[in-house]
Amino acid sequence: MISVIIPIYNEEQNILPMYARMAEVFDKLNVKREYIYVNDGSEDDSEHVIKRLAKQHADVKYINFSRNFGHQVAVSAGLDKAEGDKVVMIDADGQDPPEVIEELYLKSLEGFEVVYAKRESRKGESAMKIATAKWFYRVLNRITSFEIPLDTGDFRIMDRKVVDQLINMPEHHKFLRGQISWIGFNQTYVSFKRDERMSGETGYTYSRMIRLALDGITSFSNWPLRIATISGFVFSFIGFILILYTLYSKYYSETYQAGWASQMITLIFIGGIQLIGIGIIGEYISRMNENIKGRPLYIVKDSNISDASD
Ligand code: UDP
Ligand code: MG
Repeated sequence: MISVIIPIYNEEQNILPMYARMAEVFDKLNVKREYIYVNDGSEDDSEHVIKRLAKQHADVKYINFSRNFGHQVAVSAGLDKAEGDKVVMIDADGQDPPEVIEELYLKSLEGFEVVYAKRESRKGESAMKIATAKWFYRVLNRITSFEIPLDTGDFRIMDRKVVDQLINMPEHHKFLRGQISWIGFNQTYVSFKRDERMSGETGYTYSRMIRLALDGITSFSNWPLRIATISGFVFSFIGFILILYTLYSKYYSETYQAGWASQMITLIFIGGIQLIGIGIIGEYISRMNENIKGRPLYIVKDSNISDASD
């Protein structure tokens, strides 16, 4: 059986057409499937659309969150409850065309534990979003010790083995695409053209993208901390030279001047560097704090999966 995880945040218009498109794919492949709709605190009518769909089709399961917990958490909740031998993660807005599931599935049968869908092109997204994403993943790859595939989202198929590892990873700040690369096994990809959103608006605002980016960096690299340390050494060294020069000019040189401007510049500059250093440490500590608190990752309001409320 294949489980399909579909995170939903204000997708009322997209749920039914997506269901029909996915059903067609699975009918053609003739495989058993379950759909896990995770309603991530939608403010539109998504909840009722999903519940109505679940009444009509026995293969539709849902998890209804008590509020918005974010896309990565919604997908994680679906992973927790998925029962399939293979699991597909797909967006609800049609940007990841369900027809690509066929290719993902067939490729996975060749013996790949993970087959991710690589974006050959992207339609209907701002140049800014595409450029920042492109830049971010290239930087991330340079500062991590393993490869996170470029130009991919979470659209992919995974074997049960991989899902079992994934749901046992305790971190609260999920960066699933990185975690899956980290897990390893045989991974490959198929290329696809990312479509426009069928209807509605993106739930990924810039602030959410920045948060996801920081989660990715802090989860998989200590490079920012190292940069803080290295810049500490560099500036201490420069400072030491400046001390020698200051003492020299004060006691031996005739050209000694008060130098208010240079003092102010140094003060502000070093102050800034220190604050950045503290901020970087803070990003790591706040995530440690989040994990130590040990709160549940999400709260379920209701569900038609029997043990989903635990
Ligand atoms: N989503 C979610 N919770 C959120 C934001 C988004 O579950 O807080 C879902 C959304 O319904 C969609 C998927 O995550 O199925 C991808 O979101 P979106 O299309 O808004 O992101 P984009 O494709 O613009 O990056
Ligand atoms: Mg989208």
